[in-house]
Amino acid sequence: MTDKYYNVADIFGENVFNDAAMKERLPGKIYRKLKETIKNGHELDLETADVIAHEMKEWAIEKGATHFTHWFQPLTGVTAEKHDSFITAPMENGKVLMSFSGKELIKGEPDASSFPSGGLRATFEARGYTAWDPTSPAFVRQDAAGATLCIPTAFCSFTGEALDQKTPLLRSMEALDRQTIRLLRLLGNTTSTSATPSVGIEQEYFIIDRQNFLKRKDLVYTGRTLVGAMPPKGQEMDDHYFGAIRERIAAFMRDVNTQLWKLGVAAKTQHNEVAPAQHELAPIYAQANVAVDHNQMIMETLKKVAYRHDLQCLLHEKPFAGVNGSGKHDNWSLVTDDGINLLDPGKTPHENIQFLLVLCCILKAVDEHADLLRESAADVGNDHRLGADEAPPAVISVYLGTQLQDVLNQLIDTGAATHSIGEETLKTGVRSLPDFLKDATDRNRTSPFAFTGNKFEFRMVGSEDSVGEPNTVINTIIAEAFSDACDVLEKADDIDLAVHDLIKEYASAHQRIVFNGNGYSKEWIEEAARRGLPHIKNMVDAIPALTHEKTVRLFEKFGVLTRLELASRAEIEYEIYAKKINIEAKTFIDIARKQIIPAVIRYTTVLAESINQIRMAADADVSTQTQMLLEVSDLLAGTRLALSKLEQVESEGLKVEGARERAVYYRDEVATAMVTLRAHIDKLEMLVDKEMWPMPSYGDLLFEV
Ligand code: ADP
Ligand code: MG
Repeated sequence: MTDKYYNVADIFGENVFNDAAMKERLPGKIYRKLKETIKNGHELDLETADVIAHEMKEWAIEKGATHFTHWFQPLTGVTAEKHDSFITAPMENGKVLMSFSGKELIKGEPDASSFPSGGLRATFEARGYTAWDPTSPAFVRQDAAGATLCIPTAFCSFTGEALDQKTPLLRSMEALDRQTIRLLRLLGNTTSTSATPSVGIEQEYFIIDRQNFLKRKDLVYTGRTLVGAMPPKGQEMDDHYFGAIRERIAAFMRDVNTQLWKLGVAAKTQHNEVAPAQHELAPIYAQANVAVDHNQMIMETLKKVAYRHDLQCLLHEKPFAGVNGSGKHDNWSLVTDDGINLLDPGKTPHENIQFLLVLCCILKAVDEHADLLRESAADVGNDHRLGADEAPPAVISVYLGTQLQDVLNQLIDTGAATHSIGEETLKTGVRSLPDFLKDATDRNRTSPFAFTGNKFEFRMVGSEDSVGEPNTVINTIIAEAFSDACDVLEKADDIDLAVHDLIKEYASAHQRIVFNGNGYSKEWIEEAARRGLPHIKNMVDAIPALTHEKTVRLFEKFGVLTRLELASRAEIEYEIYAKKINIEAKTFIDIARKQIIPAVIRYTTVLAESINQIRMAADADVSTQTQMLLEVSDLLAGTRLALSKLEQVESEGLKVEGARERAVYYRDEVATAMVTLRAHIDKLEMLVDKEMWPMPSYGDLLFEV
């Protein structure tokens, strides 16, 4: 346990086999070889791996590790691991040796048959391989299970098909690296040798009391409330956002930070979010694959630490209907090994030709693959959020802000950009307070893909989803746009003129994707339709983008995903959709039948008895009570009818043939039947005696922490 008060710098990264640990522990030659591997992506030879494994094990054992695991991200959205202890067969003297070989470090062979493969396994073997990603450092996780050495790995089938999030992400980073350097060379850059996407992920989540959580079977089984009337007080007072953090939550956050810092995750900001009981955590950005791993570690840590504080962390995108949902913001920029951020416009963007070309390539990429980008943020929970007046709309658009918009307008209108709107000063009006420089690239919180100063912020991702896929898509579509630009520029006689023409061409051709207004407004949805931008309202409609011909061409061209891998991913997503809605339906049926209907019947019995007693005792007027009884009975009848309907469609669902057809059925029949049932029950909750209602209310869940 850490002291009550400690110096962050002392504990930061203490559980990570990071560069400092490697440098200290590994023989110089081995260290240099590993660095070389990390930099150039060569395979490690077994001899080198043996030495690294040995030192890593010694280091881990000092931290109390008894087991090691290949930690990977199958297509379930969460991480998977299989633990092996370091113990080898007992020796003659009855003692055991602790060993860990290079082979065990770089390669694992978990049984792949229990992970989704979308038909890939039928054609191949059930065996799967995990392979160490040496660019993401190994770490020791300390928890109730003891200490475990976790090795971030990619997960593939026997024949090399990706079965995970990490493999395509790494492939996309390589593709983007190559195309970026190719473009930079054409622009006269001779110094940069590699380019890597930097990613910073803001994570939203809810924290509720664990005892309340356990009384809600819907939360336990599905992660969201399937019923629940709005509390008298919600977020309308705006008093939660950035509000003072309560003691119990503060203790939890402190513990989360400590854990994450030890794991080398630079948890930086924390604050209350818009809804009651909602919070956000953001680490400092890191190289894309590391940031994606860190986000998984953050989600795991939030859940585990909450448990220790008798709290429950809800990562679902929409745990409470009518209350603000949770997402993640994927902040993305592109940085060279010599420190140039290609998304930094500088003070005078109109003169920054390289930036303008990169920007216009990104506009082209997002416009041409808006449907794919939308798909990368699709998950079952996010369907409750996107387009629901609080998260970004389900239409992809890019926000540029006044300054950049103005530069592009100049280019489009006159062919030349001659000036940039400067920074303004915001006067505080108090002499002792400094005036602020108003950022020339302002903010817009309603845009799904917003330029925010020196990065883009993709705000559509769901809070529970992996950010692996969104980053794979962003990297690859931008690699393609760079590659297309290079194809043109490489043929040009006058490179300056060609760059200028290309910027103008892309800016004009892809203007329609830019929108700087209020993304929540109805007018925008209509305007987007006029512009021909795709408006994809739910996951089932988003999935086909994975297998469009242009998507297959894109991913195959850059060796990120094959046609077969894409088809399997689409299949998996349909399956996940149907399965999740099926679990929700079954949970709902259970709750309605065994908890809610019996409670309502008890309440009507009490009402009826009281009517009888009043009549017998005083022969008084009981019309009010009778009215109430009738009202509740009516809703009860409606509930029963809606429940029968849900039971009927649920039992039909599993019989529907074909993954897509089944998903469509679950969306149109089962999910709709749940909405109807819920409407009756939420009205009942407002009428029935709270003492008799069989589960904590929204008010209890949201305010009792
Ligand atoms: P904002 O308030 O605009 O959302 P923050 O400063 O809170 O920005 O940062 C949000 C996230 O973006 C953090 O994870 C941060 O580390 C990350 N971030 C900041 N700059 C960059 C950058 N150049 N590239 C990628 N991510 C970045
Ligand atoms: Mg943000």
